[in-house]
Amino acid sequence: MVAKAPPSAGAATPVQTRPPLSALPAVDRLLREPALSALGEALGHAIVKRSIREELATARERLAEGGEAPGPEALAAGVAARARRHCAPRLATVVNLTGTVIHTNLGRALLADEAIDSVAAAMRGYCALEYDVAGGDRGDRDSVVEELLRDLTGAAAVTVVNNNAGAVLLALAALAGRREAVISHGELIEIGGAFRMPDIMRAAQCRLVAVGTTNRTHPRDYVDAISARTGIVVRAHWSNYAISGFTSVVDEATIAAIAHARGVPFMVDLGAGALVDLSRYGLPREPLPADSLAAGADVVTFSGDKLLGGPQAGIVVGTREAIAKIKKHPLKRALRCSKMTLAALEATLRIYASDHRLAERLPVLALLARPAADIRAACERVFPAVARFAGDGYDVRVDDCASQIGSGSLPVDRLPSAAIVVAPAGAGRRGRALARLAERLRALPTPVVGRIFRDALWLDLRCLRVGDEARLIAELEAAR
Ligand SMILES: *Cc1c(COP(=O)(O)O)cnc(C)c1O
Repeated sequence: MVAKAPPSAGAATPVQTRPPLSALPAVDRLLREPALSALGEALGHAIVKRSIREELATARERLAEGGEAPGPEALAAGVAARARRHCAPRLATVVNLTGTVIHTNLGRALLADEAIDSVAAAMRGYCALEYDVAGGDRGDRDSVVEELLRDLTGAAAVTVVNNNAGAVLLALAALAGRREAVISHGELIEIGGAFRMPDIMRAAQCRLVAVGTTNRTHPRDYVDAISARTGIVVRAHWSNYAISGFTSVVDEATIAAIAHARGVPFMVDLGAGALVDLSRYGLPREPLPADSLAAGADVVTFSGDKLLGGPQAGIVVGTREAIAKIKKHPLKRALRCSKMTLAALEATLRIYASDHRLAERLPVLALLARPAADIRAACERVFPAVARFAGDGYDVRVDDCASQIGSGSLPVDRLPSAAIVVAPAGAGRRGRALARLAERLRALPTPVVGRIFRDALWLDLRCLRVGDEARLIAELEAAR
């Protein structure tokens, strides 16, 4: 509501020393301003009206505090800025210069163009999600990716759910609900974002039986722990940490043999789960689901959006018997994934199945395999814009650094890379100068996220794709 005009000046009325609230135009008047009515056509009138009310409320507060009444142009500009802010996506595109390729907070894997096109097609039109086109009959959504995953992992059967945490929960509930789950002490892992193996086991209604010690577990520990109450034996990949020194881990084939001799299924939670041997691309080798299956695992679970480079998904591969039980459990329906997920996953798996130019077509692989010299050359190209943006008070240089794969994959191995390093010049108040610089970078139209390390802001350019360099440079130049 716009405030009513004060009573007309009379003998008893004190002298008006401030501009009256009526100095501000009414909402309807502003709505008719040509600039704002055009904005209403573009963004929707409701957004513009709401922005006008907010802008007027702020102006009124300022007036009440003795400020000036803004003119119509200033008001209109303020309204337009507010309306644009209201319409800006919260899921904003950001520039990931953290040096972590699979960054959970920044959306993990970038998807292949083929996957993006498939998702768009599945969203625009009807699709054969649960429909057997050849037979004209009702189908099963897992069959979209079943054959591909069988071929790529050697599994007899597969199912896919919303994410890997869901896959682990579902597999445990279906195979070992109300029974005991045997796992090594050293594998009671926590993965970022509150995935804790003991909690997931509890949620699946399994009783946790931890065997061995943190650093050493032996075959007889498993043998001694398995009883008539045992529902499953679990191996969880360490993913985000390493145990070194005086250690002993039982290999998967041995655990599988011990479990199977006692009629108990064996499950492996791989986490990252690469589908190809990454040493082909000069990267450390990560365990493949096929390795665990070959070692005798009945079920292997892994993420779709970690090393695989696809959409968020939890992939479960295994024996026909185990997968059939999993698919029948009610949680499978609760955790099922969408047609967008399946469209993206199918297209990503097709790239692996082709085994053709993987490192060009899969962005995660391309970023992980990017040579340090290439990244350094990018640093040299972007350096002048960063130096001008930082301005006086900062020393800017290009330096070697180490990128991370991220998302719990390959925690120890770091990838040689290069960064533009911005350090506050001189002594004192470095923390504040760094925070201020990081804040200015995040305030760019496409927010830039770097990493603060050793009193400097490190902009590791590994994940800046060459096609995005020009936009970053332009935004830096425009903002300085
Ligand atoms: C990442 C990870 C998970 C959780 O997977 P999400 O895809 O985040 O649900 C579970 N287990 C392991 C070993 C992991 O590395």
